[in-house]
Amino acid sequence: MEDLERELGLRDILKLASNENPLGPSPHAIKAILDAAPNVSIYPDGHAYLLRRALAEFHDIADESITLGNGSNDVLDLIARVFLTPEYSALISDHAFAMYRISTLAAGAHLQIAPARPMTDAMPYGHDLAAMKGLVTSRTRVIFIANPNNPTGTWVGSEELEAFIQSVPDDVIVVLDEAYAEYADQDDYPDAIRWIQRYPNLVVTRTFSKIHALAGLRVGYAISRPEIAGLLNRVRHPFNVNSLAQAAAIAALEDEAHVKNSQKINKIGLEQLRQACEHRALSYLPSVANFLCIDINRPALPVYKALLHEGVIVRPVANYGLGNFLRVTIGREKQNQCFLLALDKVLAL
Ligand SMILES: *Cc1c(COP(=O)(O)O)cnc(C)c1O
Repeated sequence: MEDLERELGLRDILKLASNENPLGPSPHAIKAILDAAPNVSIYPDGHAYLLRRALAEFHDIADESITLGNGSNDVLDLIARVFLTPEYSALISDHAFAMYRISTLAAGAHLQIAPARPMTDAMPYGHDLAAMKGLVTSRTRVIFIANPNNPTGTWVGSEELEAFIQSVPDDVIVVLDEAYAEYADQDDYPDAIRWIQRYPNLVVTRTFSKIHALAGLRVGYAISRPEIAGLLNRVRHPFNVNSLAQAAAIAALEDEAHVKNSQKINKIGLEQLRQACEHRALSYLPSVANFLCIDINRPALPVYKALLHEGVIVRPVANYGLGNFLRVTIGREKQNQCFLLALDKVLAL
């Protein structure tokens, strides 16, 4: 945002580009940060006892099932570092979240990419679990599934997903990245944390960056059986979650009203953007997250750039093989309106 202000001399930039919560963090989280600030001369609790306790209670799981990360990206990276070597490969879907590729290649491992569902499918560009299953070999060690996926917003339903996990060999780690789980209110969206009991090779990741609006503090976590958490914690840097982040995360987790309100605002905004797209005969991918991937029927990069000149930042996703799409984070009603005004102006040019 500062770059854009400097380069184009614009003010009042609207950023709908990184799927941040437009409501900002819970006031309780901000207070917790301020209260913890005088003690930053002291190292954080390397085991994050209180935060792990709070998470264990929240999810009704054992403390030993939790691995904390400097954002969930850190946890995804720990998984790659523990389980992937040049002899093995990780399996992902086309159009899947970019971190899986980066962490896999950084671990020196191979990447297998399954084709996504076709554009004409009921879940266009969504993960095709049958195609993924078909690629599993004896060298496949980790499968990353974003549910819902970023940048598409598409998701995999409970029944299909559990059948997939059941069908995968026990020595293949299945990672379900649930960064947007709190937004997913679809009936068939799985309660995958409950499956940890049944599937020892399952790892579910969550983050405080999205609905909890603490992206700048960097806190995420994995939930798995203690055996896997034990391995991940062995390579984790002891102070990877700082003391302000630990304090804020606990407060954010407790503020259920703020989460509910964030869900409500998102639902309204998602519907607003969907309807606006329909009015403009623009199609979009199905989404249960806090963003919408909109097909603007032409190369999206010039549109993205023109929107920048209007002071609106969204995300072009050509790097995900979706060259005609823009991913737009759901904002508050006025922000969405502001984006739509800018889009209309730019598309009319
Ligand atoms: C945003 C996002 C994350 C969260 O990353 P953090 O490191 O926790 O900020 C993880 N996975 C997906 C798919 C995301 O979109």
